Amino acid sequence: MEPNPNKNQKSKQDKRQSKQYNIDKNSSNKLKKNNGLPLKETFLPEEKKGEVKDKKNKIEEKSAKKEKKKESKKNNIINDSDTYNKKKEKVKDEQMEKDKKISDKKINNNSKGKAKMKYELKLKEVNEKENEVKSKKAKITVAEEKIKKLKNELSEDKKILDKEIESFNKKVKEKEKELAEKEKLLNQREERLNKVKEFSVPPNSPPILIGLENIGATCYMNASLQCLSNTKNFTKFFLFDYKKEEKNIMANEYYRLIKKLWKKDNNNKPVKPTSFKEVLSKENSLFAGVTANDSKDFINFLIERLHQELNEPKVNKDNNNTNEIDINNINQSDEMGMLKLFFSDFEIKYNSIISNLFYGILESKSLCNICKDIKFNFQIYSFLEFHLQQVNLYFSNLGKRPLLINGNQNPDIDLYECLEYFSKVELMSGQNQMYCNRCKKECDSLYSTKLFSGPNYLIIYLNRGKGAVYECKVNFPEQLNLINYLGFQNGPIIYDLYAVVCHLGPSSMNGHFVAYCKNRIDNKWYLYNDAIVSLCTKSQQYNDGMPYILFYQAIIRNN
Ligand SMILES: [Zn+2]
Repeated sequence: MEPNPNKNQKSKQDKRQSKQYNIDKNSSNKLKKNNGLPLKETFLPEEKKGEVKDKKNKIEEKSAKKEKKKESKKNNIINDSDTYNKKKEKVKDEQMEKDKKISDKKINNNSKGKAKMKYELKLKEVNEKENEVKSKKAKITVAEEKIKKLKNELSEDKKILDKEIESFNKKVKEKEKELAEKEKLLNQREERLNKVKEFSVPPNSPPILIGLENIGATCYMNASLQCLSNTKNFTKFFLFDYKKEEKNIMANEYYRLIKKLWKKDNNNKPVKPTSFKEVLSKENSLFAGVTANDSKDFINFLIERLHQELNEPKVNKDNNNTNEIDINNINQSDEMGMLKLFFSDFEIKYNSIISNLFYGILESKSLCNICKDIKFNFQIYSFLEFHLQQVNLYFSNLGKRPLLINGNQNPDIDLYECLEYFSKVELMSGQNQMYCNRCKKECDSLYSTKLFSGPNYLIIYLNRGKGAVYECKVNFPEQLNLINYLGFQNGPIIYDLYAVVCHLGPSSMNGHFVAYCKNRIDNKWYLYNDAIVSLCTKSQQYNDGMPYILFYQAIIRNN
């Protein structure tokens, strides 16, 4: 503890005051003994009294001076004391200031230390946090990797799943398609069954024999239609399997007519082919009006037209031309190569009830007389045509028989002779020369055509010439064996006759056509003379008039 300067000061002053007080006290006591006056003065003469008074004044002055001095000293002391005090206070203040500063500093230092500590703590915390963050980040990275991996796996899974779904959907679609196809087939079968019921005739029931009315020189058409109508599988197709389509103008008409011709419950009432004839006339002007026509022309037109309408080529629509083979790049001397080429084309382009039933294959061969190069070629045919006069001439020229018998009668011709004639080897010369690929020019050539394969239904025209009819008897078998005339033995070989168009009258364009047909129910021959259908006796059978068109159906085939 510092000594208190004020206190010290005070005690000194107190001492001084007490001394003063003692002096006054003494004088007072003296006054009391002298009635209040100084004792000596009271009893002194006047002059002495003056002197005393002066002395007294002087003493008083001295005392006053002393007092003043004292006062001044006292004041000085007091002043000094004030200065001291002030200084002291200043020092004190400065000290306090210093202390404060020190204290502040200490405090400051303390807070700095604390802050440092705090900072260090914080730093530690931050580091820890950082480490934590790092570890979390690492964890996140790992997690992200995992997520990525999972995502990849998921993506792979999704891909697999998508593929499975796609494949499943595809399968479903296929199944649906299959089902739809099956349903369609079932419906078709049911429909067909109904049709079969409608048109089938129970055994031993009377045959359906419906004639066609002549609506103006339509006998050529009526006779032909009856033969085609008695072509079993052809009629079965139209009765049971034909689907009407708007584009099939002729086929639709034929279908309507066939249905009428095999209607069970119409008591064999003749049918008027008006609608059919109208459409026919529209489709081919050759058959328009009421002019007489040729059955052969009619059948050829109808069969070709029906094929066009009903053909469904198997050509792949996406690559139409892949099966087109440039004939110039094929070695025509290679018989098997040519045959393969023909079939590859035929099987794609020809797909109709007509091509299935009526088309056969012909093979032609030409031999160049100069270079001896052989060329093979294959083509389809829907009928065979034999020019009877030429057949007769051919055999007469071979010396096998006279041109005329008994002077004016044409000799009989056998159908096998016609086939032999058809397969003959001909010298093509003069105007008929053939182009040779090797000689690069037209050359004399040996040319022949033969049947390669027979159709299911074979139509044969016995051509008796235009204008005046070449009259001769043609012997044709009810059972035709083609084994010696076919290049290809794995197919129809033996045929049965089932229908014949006969011509009555002096010329092909002037006369009458009738049909003889074998009934599919009772296997008996009937004469179809327009509206009238009558049973034939054996002697009468296709011998009225001249057989013109023969219809054979394959009954035995080598497979
Ligand atoms: Zn040649």
